[in-house]
Amino acid sequence: MSAPIIFSGIQPTGRKHLGNYIGAIRQYVEAQERGDPAIFCIVDLHAISVAYDPAELRERLYDTTAILLAAGLDPGRCILFRQSDVREHTELTWLLSAVTSHGDLNRMHQFKDKSARQRELVSAALFFYPVLMAADVLAYRAAEVPVGHDQLQHVELTREIARRFNERFGETLVEPEHRIPEVGARIMDLQEPERKMSTTGATEAGTVYVLDEPDAIRKKFGSAVTDSGREIVRSDEKAGITNLIDILAVARGVSPDEIETEFEGAGYGDFKKAVAEGVIEMLAPVRDRYADLRPDEAALEATLAEGAEKARAIASKTLAEVRGRMGIGAPR
Ligand code: ATP
Ligand code: MG
Repeated sequence: MSAPIIFSGIQPTGRKHLGNYIGAIRQYVEAQERGDPAIFCIVDLHAISVAYDPAELRERLYDTTAILLAAGLDPGRCILFRQSDVREHTELTWLLSAVTSHGDLNRMHQFKDKSARQRELVSAALFFYPVLMAADVLAYRAAEVPVGHDQLQHVELTREIARRFNERFGETLVEPEHRIPEVGARIMDLQEPERKMSTTGATEAGTVYVLDEPDAIRKKFGSAVTDSGREIVRSDEKAGITNLIDILAVARGVSPDEIETEFEGAGYGDFKKAVAEGVIEMLAPVRDRYADLRPDEAALEATLAEGAEKARAIASKTLAEVRGRMGIGAPR
């Protein structure tokens, strides 16, 4: 079997958190070994779908680029680029909107959640977000999309859009498969373990950032919300403990079962301390490398420019074919 084309995107909003690291970034590093090519995109155009500050967006874009490199992405072995540098994404968004159902967009959970939280403006961009995401993926004819659990619905819609395009205009686009990690596809907020750890709309104390100082991490895990029981086992009634078990399992590279066995009979306090130390150890090398990489913005720009060139070479071919199929522009 030949290596799959793998694609995923990550927003340069806020600070990247443990959910992003475990659910997405870790998978990217692994995908880099399997994908041909493995393509990772920092999706600044998605980030403008909610209120934002232009100067801060630039800063966060460099932050996110440096985090991805620090986590192990190697521009020699993958394509890493900034979404807005490859204009094919926006053109393809419009073309795909012709085969996207308004009713489908209306059903997207992310739109419902995020639109309810907007104080000033619910932008049309927020509603259109999944079409842009479909364009991101379909422009590369990716077979596989590593994402966290929350993005499953958007990948499903991407498949639907590809299917409808192919039916209407002839076989052109590839229906991608999602790939979510077995453990850690949905890391929960430490303070409100009923909802996912998130860049927008999570609690500050319940969100562990990839770049947090060790003491901040200890404090956040120390005050993590659990339950009134005393057993360290996964169950639906124990959202907090279940989340902590999953996190430690990933940090140590073992199964959740092994964590349950090891901590049988232990107290919640000691368990939380162990989780904090595990996470600190997992993130320490990323933080160190980040400190080296982040200051050199010219080098980050050069990396992104090189990635954009490679990405454009692929996306422009798809675009030309899509335009041709749709009868757009002069005949080829
Ligand atoms: P926002 O809340 O603004 O949507 P986000 O935290 O979801 O931000 P994104 O850039 O949208 O960040 O997501 C990047 C990747 O991280 C996606 O693949 C997403 O599924 C994954 N991800 C986000 N939150 C979690 C989480 N709590 N657990 C596991 N994966 C997550
Ligand atoms: Mg998200």
